Amino acid sequence: MGRVITKKPEILAPGGTLEKLKTAIYYGADACYIGGEAYGLRSRAGNFDYPEMREAVAFAHAHHAKVYVAANMVTHIGDEMGAGEFFRTIRDIGVDAVLISDPALMDICMMDAPGLPIHLSTQASATNYQTLNFWAEEGLERVVLAREVGMEEIKEMREKTSVQIEAFVHGAMCISYSGRCVLSNHMASRDANRGGCAQSCRWKYDLFEQELPGLKTPVGADEEGISEKFSMSAVDLAMIDNIPELVEAGIDSLKIEGRMKSIHYVSTVANVYRAAVDSYCADPDHYEFKEEWLDELWKVAQRELATGFYYETPDESMQLFGKRRKIPHYAFVGQVLSYDPETQIAVIQQRNNFGVSDTVEFYGPGMRHFEQEITSLKDEDGQEIDRAPHAMMIVTTKVKQAVQPLDMIRKRK
Ligand code: SF4
Repeated sequence: MGRVITKKPEILAPGGTLEKLKTAIYYGADACYIGGEAYGLRSRAGNFDYPEMREAVAFAHAHHAKVYVAANMVTHIGDEMGAGEFFRTIRDIGVDAVLISDPALMDICMMDAPGLPIHLSTQASATNYQTLNFWAEEGLERVVLAREVGMEEIKEMREKTSVQIEAFVHGAMCISYSGRCVLSNHMASRDANRGGCAQSCRWKYDLFEQELPGLKTPVGADEEGISEKFSMSAVDLAMIDNIPELVEAGIDSLKIEGRMKSIHYVSTVANVYRAAVDSYCADPDHYEFKEEWLDELWKVAQRELATGFYYETPDESMQLFGKRRKIPHYAFVGQVLSYDPETQIAVIQQRNNFGVSDTVEFYGPGMRHFEQEITSLKDEDGQEIDRAPHAMMIVTTKVKQAVQPLDMIRKRK
């Protein structure tokens, strides 16, 4: 008899806005993490007010998915004002858990909102089983591991603790330890630990070995003094090649980073991890990695992809010091609103300029996708047009295969 997977990990996707949350769930996420209007780290992500949170929870629960709210800011004296009411309100809305790193906020949450499960945020840098057991004894349901732990460490933690383990499997990495960074504070007066990171590590810099009088030649410059710009940006994490090991390690939740990312990104990444995890868990003995999963991830990649700290301590090859590899870029050009199978006409909401003679790719949940050339396009009044140039314009076109509402359309740039 073949092996049976007893615990299928949750796929946890970012829900930066209500639209992104619905998209992530539609494309296969089991849960989404979102930010409230206070106490979170992503002050520039589209944080949810209470009515939006209510809608998010109702949508998620109707689709058997969960919603976690990040309240993982570093709290200075006074920042905690009103936190008790916040936690009580989100508990009563039906939020499934709250992510916290600061023990002061945990205390308030436990006192004022009993019954609301707490997950330890990655900001708390949990890296060993003693730490996990400590937090379990404090009453936490789950620990989000620091990104800096390796696969063998995760396996040991799994063996020696019963608390739920959540681990990052895809997305951007910080150059500093679990986001403990003040670069952005210095360069842009924006506090990374209060949600304002300006991604200063990814800016372009010149690096000088030593500044001598009248001589300012950057390190690595050619004879004319021209250098490749230097950044401190780390390559992105992608564990799609290693799904069997993640599942076998007993990780409860596979986390995708990126509340600031687009619905194009979220839909693509959730779709791919859903397909891979389902495929492995359905038949681990005959699982085969599919190149198309990686191809899909490259369509939305912003940097090179690597396995982070899972198998080795990253060396300089995992930093973007110099020139980047060319990454194929796709523009998200539209979303299907409806489809008539009789006429094969799809109604599309435009998101980026596209038009007749462009070759576009339609894609949807379950890794459905096909390419076709746009041969005709009509506006809302049924008038033939060449292009759909206006943002959010409604257009119609004939498609060669059936599509569904919320399917996406992209075009190679
Ligand atoms: S500046 Fe870079 S390393 Fe620092 S918090 Fe922002 S992304 Fe992370």
